[in-house]
Amino acid sequence: MVIRSGSAHDNLKVMLDILTVSNDSEGILRRRAAKVDDPTSDEMRALIPEMIETMREDGVGLAAPQIGRSIRLFVVEVDGRVSVYFNPVIVRYSEERSVTEEGCLSVPGVWKNVSRPEGIRMEYTDINGKRSTIDAGGFLARVLQHEYDHLEGILFTDRADTEPVDDTLKNAYVI
Ligand SMILES: [Zn+2]
Repeated sequence: MVIRSGSAHDNLKVMLDILTVSNDSEGILRRRAAKVDDPTSDEMRALIPEMIETMREDGVGLAAPQIGRSIRLFVVEVDGRVSVYFNPVIVRYSEERSVTEEGCLSVPGVWKNVSRPEGIRMEYTDINGKRSTIDAGGFLARVLQHEYDHLEGILFTDRADTEPVDDTLKNAYVI
């Protein structure tokens, strides 16, 4: 997930290619991702820093399908805190909902208002292979739900209001 105020970092070490809806020829963004059998494997330990670097270019969250890996893994950075989630399951949603504008590295240039539950409880496996639970509210809960959707093959545009808030489109209607 990206937010409009996201700023590009210029000290990138590794950048992974981002799958977008227009270059996703194998439909990875629309597939349910597979469980990660061993979150502590060397392969995962190598992949995580690359995903974090890539996320930091412009985003606050990045899911593995967005870099062409159809596995249940995403990284998030909210309030300066980076978190890694393997095999997450959202087990509880609040009744209260909120609407906020979202964007996505895989749907470049599009911003839409999305209604989501304000709070969630999510179970996941951490980078040490330990099963944990997080109760999240507000912006963090929104980012977690956006990234979780990627593991289910769901894009934020599926959940968005039909009215686009894409600046380009807005301008197109101002005559
Ligand atoms: Zn996204």
